[in-house]
Amino acid sequence: KMQLLTMERDLRQAIESDSLEMHFQPMVDIRTTNVSGMEALVRWRHPSLGLLAPESFLDLAEQTGMIKDIGRFVLNEATRQLGIWQRAFRPSEPVFMAVNVSASQLMDTDLVSDIRAAVTRETVYRQTLKIEVTESAVLQYPEKSASLLELVKQLGVGLACDDFGTAYSSLSSLRHLPFDTLKVDRSFVSPEAEDEKAAIILQSIVSLAHDLGLTIVAEGIEDQAQVDRLVELECEYGKGFFMGQPMTAKQVGESLTSMPY
Ligand code: C2E
Ligand code: MG
Ligand code: MG
Repeated sequence: KMQLLTMERDLRQAIESDSLEMHFQPMVDIRTTNVSGMEALVRWRHPSLGLLAPESFLDLAEQTGMIKDIGRFVLNEATRQLGIWQRAFRPSEPVFMAVNVSASQLMDTDLVSDIRAAVTRETVYRQTLKIEVTESAVLQYPEKSASLLELVKQLGVGLACDDFGTAYSSLSSLRHLPFDTLKVDRSFVSPEAEDEKAAIILQSIVSLAHDLGLTIVAEGIEDQAQVDRLVELECEYGKGFFMGQPMTAKQVGESLTSMPY
């Protein structure tokens, strides 16, 4: 209990003192292995505990309402970086940025105006900012979420269904929500060796998504064999430690400079 209170106080202070930072993990075109976009992942640089992953503080942020400030920071910072990279690097297709949004952010009516303000301010290309939501987030308030996501889509922002396959009503959200991208959870991509069922489910998810006109992002790719399989299944994008760890903005800038566009 004491610890939780300390954490809460520290987190509040971190938001005010800019101790939150964004890291970016490359999303690659599965066939060419070129970097096509980034996923923005929040970190907390804690004075004594070091760099903390989102699992260790986002629940607390949700419970205390601090997620609202964190979410706004994440959106603004990710969109700002996206603008910088789009101006600095000009591949044939502009680089995109995926931003995670949690359940309580979906209940916040400021979200739509925050997104509109961010994409307008940074003049990023249409459809290059992509919002990711999990089905479990959407399911907390299905109708409110659906109308909010519809407004987000109308801003020319992409919408991805994150961690697909881990909640129970996946199929109904694909039917009723305006997703353009489906992110297959890593439990189907890097399953235990010889898990034939996971392989069959992966194949079915990919063909279902393609039949619905959705783009696939395979998550958690950890070796070449998984890449080969995803090429075979004609997945569009992939992400995972095999293609790149989450890194700082500075590291991304350096890696984009050395890329053969
Ligand atoms: P997610 O959106 O599904 O993000 C993918 C997570 O998987 C990241 O962990 C990433 O580092 C990790 N990962 C990437 N490749 C691999 C791999 O090959 N193997 C394995 N085992 N893991 C891999 P991270 O950064 O700790 O984020 C965890 C979750 O926290 C995210 O899952 C997302 O739901 C949430 N999150 C992260 N950043 C934000 C944010 O800015 N806002 C909100 N609302 N949620 C966030
Ligand atoms: Mg995500
Ligand atoms: Mg995910």
